[in-house]
Amino acid sequence: MSRVYNFSAGPSMLPEAVLTKAAAEMLDYEGSGQSVMEMSHRSKVYDAIIKDAEKLLREVMQIPDNYKVLFLQGGASSQFAMVPMNLMTKNKKADYVLTGQWATKAYKEAARYGDAVAAASSKDKTFSYIPKLDKSMFRPDADYVHICMNNTIYGTVYHELPDTGDIPLVADISSCILSKPIDVSKFALLYAGAQKNMAPAGLTVVIVREDFIGNAMDITPTMFNYQTHADNGSMFNTPPCYTIYIAKLVLEWIKNEIGGLEKMQEINEKKAAMLYDFLDNSKMFKGTVVPEDRSLMNVPFVTGNEELDAKFVKEATAAGFVNLKGHRTVGGMRASIYNAMPVEGVEKLVAFMKDFEEKNS
Ligand SMILES: *Cc1c(COP(=O)(O)O)cnc(C)c1O
Repeated sequence: MSRVYNFSAGPSMLPEAVLTKAAAEMLDYEGSGQSVMEMSHRSKVYDAIIKDAEKLLREVMQIPDNYKVLFLQGGASSQFAMVPMNLMTKNKKADYVLTGQWATKAYKEAARYGDAVAAASSKDKTFSYIPKLDKSMFRPDADYVHICMNNTIYGTVYHELPDTGDIPLVADISSCILSKPIDVSKFALLYAGAQKNMAPAGLTVVIVREDFIGNAMDITPTMFNYQTHADNGSMFNTPPCYTIYIAKLVLEWIKNEIGGLEKMQEINEKKAAMLYDFLDNSKMFKGTVVPEDRSLMNVPFVTGNEELDAKFVKEATAAGFVNLKGHRTVGGMRASIYNAMPVEGVEKLVAFMKDFEEKNS
């Protein structure tokens, strides 16, 4: 068997230890005689799995007790509607910071349900930076400010949170959840599609402070109301059972094998530094993001020559470094180096890039 180094932005690599464990438990989960895929979500054995997953997430992310953890479906994209339907209900206003495609989609969706405005944007420079933000840029009576913490397509991240004063802060953390510690208490709500850094596709995690639940708009579909899921322990209907189980294995891996999110951050910083150092010193490859806003997870880069980009992607693929083609709207290359990408994968990629540069210049 030969496995590739998969730099996909999502769905993306899972830790090999997790895949091995899932394979070993595939036909008979802990003596139940069934696969987790087959069991009733109302069974005792499954109940233990979902409860463990929540317990581990709370522990690993240090989620305070006055926050609910919801395991939902519909992807981060459903949250673009659920957030305004549930939170844009007091003054019916929300302020969005546009730092890329996902942030813009979230904003456009919110604008269908109330007075959403773009408080700031980095579109002028193809979203290659995070706008400087201060309190005066937000409406004091906004129900919340929405940010996309890590911009998967453009490779930027908020290294510091914006000061929104008393206005509640909401963040899309799809592509940076579990990459390093986050102070959950600074947020009204966090959400993430699981397929970047947590599990396979199919699960969306919402972490919401309890007092932001229960005020949804009348038009809110039952399934889009956080209250529905909070009141039922994410079991109002069938949850994405198997994906939650894999998330549990990933959380066990982070806790027991990595040693928690501080350790995870150290490893992620090491990997990112290797790649950025190479890009900063290369004559052929260049990073596309301003250095102070560079993401730890998604690293876009270009050669400045489309033909050379295509040649690089083709040869990299043949050498076992796959999914390095940049997002279709940006071009160039992008290496997504989520938690599951081993240090060795980045080392080998950098060596390959060096070699390619020598041969092609
Ligand atoms: C991938 C991604 C999304 C979209 O997620 P889906 O689960 O496909 O809806 C939204 N926001 C960010 C930051 C993402 O990386």
